[in-house]
Formats: sequence, structure tokens, C-alpha cells
Amino acid sequence: MEILVQKFGGTSVGSYEKMNEVCKIIKAYKETYKDLKLVVVVSAMGRKGSPYATDTLISLLSEINDQPNKRELDMIMSCGEIISGTVLTNMLQVRNIKATFLTGYQAGIITTNNFSDAKILDINTERILKELNDNNVVVIAGFQGKTEDGEITTLGRGGSDTSAVAIGKALNCSRVEIYTDVDGIMTADPRIEPEAKVLDCIDYEEVFQMAEKGAKVIHPRAVSLARSANITLSIKNTLNPEFAGTRICTECQREYMEYEVKNSLMTAVAHKDKVAQVKIKASEDDFTNILNDIEKENISIDMINFFIEEKAFVVEEGYIEQLENILKKSNIEYSIRKNCAKVTLIGAKINGIPGVMSRLVKALSKENIPLLQTSDSSMTISCLVDSNDISKSVHAIHNEFHLN
Ligand code: ADP
Ligand code: MG
Repeated sequence: MEILVQKFGGTSVGSYEKMNEVCKIIKAYKETYKDLKLVVVVSAMGRKGSPYATDTLISLLSEINDQPNKRELDMIMSCGEIISGTVLTNMLQVRNIKATFLTGYQAGIITTNNFSDAKILDINTERILKELNDNNVVVIAGFQGKTEDGEITTLGRGGSDTSAVAIGKALNCSRVEIYTDVDGIMTADPRIEPEAKVLDCIDYEEVFQMAEKGAKVIHPRAVSLARSANITLSIKNTLNPEFAGTRICTECQREYMEYEVKNSLMTAVAHKDKVAQVKIKASEDDFTNILNDIEKENISIDMINFFIEEKAFVVEEGYIEQLENILKKSNIEYSIRKNCAKVTLIGAKINGIPGVMSRLVKALSKENIPLLQTSDSSMTISCLVDSNDISKSVHAIHNEFHLN
């Protein structure tokens, strides 16, 4: 049985008009490939402000109290995908396409029990296969699953991408299509960089780094899973489905890497908003204790710079309150600079090409952008800048490395 998994993000199912485009894509596949079985994974309808978007559902509880119970929060969050999946299935049925809808629970998606950030452990594909055998397009709610004990869980923001790839893996698919509101993976977020261009192929590691560094077009966990299962990902535009989009696969990984390294090319620039810079004056022992507490509280930090006098690192703004509790308790001198952003240049073998860092620093300085901190890895260089400088920084780096 040949099965294709297609995932449609919140931006693709935000209205009846958009869902109509989704139906057209599904219909075209069913008509062109008569024997192909389709699994369609959906996100919740629309973004913040839309009546059934995940943020709206969360606010139903957070209006009552700041920190609602996590179990109930997952239940209410899981409703978004159930609504969009049901509506889409109904629209398919009206168009005479045989379809059925399954929640994550019904689809047999088993997860760990950490609410709002659960990991998929296993998928019992029995029900999905039964529905496919009955010739149904199987629409499945993304972003959710259930624990062994039957509790409803959600997978964290961007989790539908992971749902789609995990389902693809469980069904032994060689390819998963991710539909969104842009033509593919681009050299920068097109909302920020008007000259960003679509990459026709990219290797798993680079796209993973892009996702990790804030390019939210695909979730990093979905990329890792696809790589481990050797699944080709196609990133495509729901409103422009004829366009091939971006391919992420092993063969293109090789071709692309060779080309890139030979030509000393960088791949993309990603940005992540709403981070804060933390500076601490502490001895090594005190700092080690603080790091232990940070780990215990599951606060993720990065860009750690270590000097004898001072330690600096970066944390997402959402963690500041928790972090300050730890710092106050340790009774040490610290400062927190909010409204920062991380802008990251990504390119395979960045380290092997001389002068990248100095070109980057000069490009920012030419635009009078204060550089607050940097960090680098084998394929990334991250710069911490003020949030107000995001566009300018992305543009300066994009230009300097001729990504357009
Ligand atoms: P979906 O609802 O389909 O999951 P997302 O909002 O999660 O959509 O992701 C798509 C968005 O990702 C695009 O609208 C774009 O603004 C943003 N984005 C950020 N970086 C990139 C990039 N490098 N390439 C393409 N899109 C990007
Ligand atoms: Mg997304």
C-alpha cells in the first residue's frame, strides 16, 4: 500500500477559503494517483486572534488564572486540531472525497506524560491502516496524543510537524509533505527579508540548525525524526502547490554540501525574537550551582560566555521569572537585558571557511548595529542584538553573504 502523509499548518486551514485550497490539493492527488492512500495531518485554525487558534484556547483558561493546571491546559489546547480536522473532513465529504477524522488519541499516538511538551513514544497504526484500507482519506489531529494511561497530551509549539513525520515513519513512508504559507525553506524569513529566496534543496543538519535558531517554517524535532527515518520532506505552499518547494533529503544533502563547500557559500540567516541576555558576577562554584538549578528547573539557556569575572548567557523571555527566582535565592550580582534577539548565520562547514566571523562583525558594524554577544558552532554563528535591530541585522547579513 503506497501511503503519503501531508501536513497542513495553521496558516493553511485558517478559513473555509484556505481549506478549500487544501481540498483541491487532496482531490488532485486522489484523481492523479488512484491507488495512493492519503493521511492528512492538520494544525489548529489560524493564528492568535482567530477564534479556534491555540492561543485563543489557552486564553480561555489563562484569563481565569496565570498558571492553569497543565492537564486541563492540554485538554483545551487539543481542541483546536479537533475542530480544524473535523471541519476539513466535512469539507472533503461534501466534495465526494471519502474521508474520516481521527484525534491523536484515536490514531494511536502514544506519548510521554509531560503535558504541553510530550514526546511521541510509539504509534499504534491499526486504526489508521483500517481506515486507509476502507479507502478513506484519514485526517488526523496534529500536535496531540495520549499517554499509556489515556491522558490527552500536546507536543509543544510546532508539534504538528512532528506528528506528521512520526506518522509517516510509523507507516513506513519515504516522503512527507509539509504545506505552509510560503514557497519553501527560504534564505531568511520572508516577512523580514524581502529578498529572501527559496532553496530547492537543503540538507537535514542545516535545516535543523535553521529551525533551532528560530526559522519556524519547520520544527527541529520533525527534522531530526525525518533524518533518522530517512524520510524525504517536501516543504510546499498550499496556495502555490504546483511549485516544487524545498526538498530535504539525503541525496540532496550530499549534492548540496559538495556544492556549498566548494563555493564557500552560506545557506541562510535565521532569527529568534524575545530572548534576554543575563550577566552574572559569580565565582565558578556559585555559577556551577546556578547552572544545576537551571537544569533542574528545565530552563534552557545558550550562548554561554565564560570569563573569570563575569558569566553571560541567553534565555528565552518566558523563563525570566523562574530564572530570577534562582538568581535571587543565590544572592549574587546579576543583570538582565530584555528585548534581545538572536540572529544566526547558517552554513555547512562555516568553520572551514576563513574570515566569516570578521565579515559578519563588519557587516553589522557598518550598519551601526551594536553586537551584544556572539557564539558559534561548526555550522552556525549567532549574534545577539537588540530586538529593534532584527530587520537591519538580518538584511546586513543576508546582503554580506549574497544569500539573495
Ligand atoms: P504553519 O502554520 O504552516 O506551521 P508557521 O507560521 O509555523 O506556519 O511557519 C511558516 C512561517 O515561517 C512563514 O510564514 C515565515 O514567515 C516563517 N519563516 C521563518 N523563517 C523562514 C525561512 N527561513 N523560510 C521560510 N519561512 C520562514
Ligand atoms: Mg509551524
